[in-house]
Amino acid sequence: MADGELRCNLQSCRKVLEENALVTSCSHIFCYQHGQVSISNENCLACGTKFRSKTDFSITDLRPSDQIKSMLLSGLNPDQALEIANRSISFYTYQLFNENRLKDEMLKRSKEECDNLKGYCASLKAKYHTEIEKLQRSTLGLKQEIEEKIGELEKQREQTCQYSRLSKKLQLELVTCKREIAMLKARQTREESVSTPRDPTSFEFLFKPEKNSMQQDTEFFEGSSRFKLSKWNYPRYSD
Ligand SMILES: [Zn+2]
Ligand SMILES: [Zn+2]
Repeated sequence: MADGELRCNLQSCRKVLEENALVTSCSHIFCYQHGQVSISNENCLACGTKFRSKTDFSITDLRPSDQIKSMLLSGLNPDQALEIANRSISFYTYQLFNENRLKDEMLKRSKEECDNLKGYCASLKAKYHTEIEKLQRSTLGLKQEIEEKIGELEKQREQTCQYSRLSKKLQLELVTCKREIAMLKARQTREESVSTPRDPTSFEFLFKPEKNSMQQDTEFFEGSSRFKLSKWNYPRYSD
């Protein structure tokens, strides 16, 4: 409470009092609005004390003019003036005491809320820290798994390259073998034709294809040898 500021004693209001206020005999004070409510209800809004007479409350000017100050205690002897001043100071001290008690309670509640928030933040921090560690472990595991997969793919790629080179090599060897077989067959055919001449009128002898898988590769050789054989046996077919 700064520099003699008084606040409305209604907890839901606590408005800073500036001019007129309602003061009660039970040492409470209210703003003009709640003072009117208190008078209407005939009781104190702070402690519930019933107003039994009009002397149980009064409307007080909190900023009295010099003239009012001069007239307020005029005619009273010093003891009476001091007693009134003493009671006024007691009222103000009581208001200070209540204000400090109220601020202590507010401070205590704020501290409890702050502690609760700290606890909540700490639990959140621990929770997210645990989740972050879990995610980091999971990420590390995934990274290792990806690296292993990359290694496997690299091995498979190398094997594929080896198989491809081997396949090309085998294909070349197969072509070479087919050619050699075709040449051997052609040579064998020539030798058989020379040793056992066939029926020169046989159509099969002239045009029937050989039954083997190397037909295309040996077509040239077979054709050329048959042509030569036909020409050798029967020159009329070459014309
Ligand atoms: Zn008020
Ligand atoms: Zn009261």
